[in-house]
Amino acid sequence: MGQDIRVEAGTKVDLKDYDPDFTGKFKNEEDTLDELNKLKDRLFDLQRLMYADNRYSLLIVIQAMDAGGKDGLIRSVMSIFNPQGCTVVPFKVPSEEERDHDYLWRIHKSLPRKGEICIFNRSHYEDVLVVRVHNLVPREVWKARYSQINDFERYLAENNVVIRKFYLHISKKEQEERMMKRLLDPKKNWKFSTGDLKERDHWDEYMEAYEDALSKCSTKEAPWYIVPSDKKWYRNLSVARVLVETLEALPMKWPEPVAEVKEIARRAQATGRLPEIK
Ligand code: AMP
Ligand code: MG
Repeated sequence: MGQDIRVEAGTKVDLKDYDPDFTGKFKNEEDTLDELNKLKDRLFDLQRLMYADNRYSLLIVIQAMDAGGKDGLIRSVMSIFNPQGCTVVPFKVPSEEERDHDYLWRIHKSLPRKGEICIFNRSHYEDVLVVRVHNLVPREVWKARYSQINDFERYLAENNVVIRKFYLHISKKEQEERMMKRLLDPKKNWKFSTGDLKERDHWDEYMEAYEDALSKCSTKEAPWYIVPSDKKWYRNLSVARVLVETLEALPMKWPEPVAEVKEIARRAQATGRLPEIK
């Protein structure tokens, strides 16, 4: 039905093959609402089950170019979940303390607890993206990181951290329009940074760095999804679909109630009040 957004392990990604403006059979946001609302209800239930089951956690990694829609997606996804049991962690330029450790230290520290969901706004992938584009470490250092990241993510997956990674794919033209809005709309001015314009000059290098990260680090345990994101509503729908599919595939169950629950419930029903426990 749609553009296949999951990157199968071993695929060599050429981002030109992925249309950022793809919207499948949908013409506008209105068309998506039925499906989106069903997905949201389902996600809400699945989150409850995950919390109760308390064996798995879900890590949602979000990466994109500036103005790519990370914040908007997080707002949309977060509003689905019960905030108790869901956290968002943004990764900025590493602090002095973070720089004094290995690059995965701050990542590992931020992982979700069992039963919980964590959304990464940027991630360890910055260490093969911005770091690569700006030569912040020597080439052989960032080159070694793809396999380190794969090993790290496999280890997490084997320990019940379910990982889904989303690259929000926008066109350079769409980025320009969004940046123009940030310049012209007083309520969006604060989002504008001159640094973003400098980064825009490196667009092609970023695309190459993304292609490498998507090609080398999409694995069965921790797949990447290339989400068409020029249309925010299609982006939200695509991600919600993946999250439902992911959580539905987990063998989660409601914990067994205490042995006496049936008997207590029977007596409560018979008398209309809670029985005394001696
Ligand atoms: P924002 O997400 O717009 O608040 O910006 C955060 C900034 O931190 C971006 O410019 C990122 O590229 C940068 N950043 C995040 N992680 C790293 C990292 N590991 N090394 C260098 N810069 C980073
Ligand atoms: Mg920014």
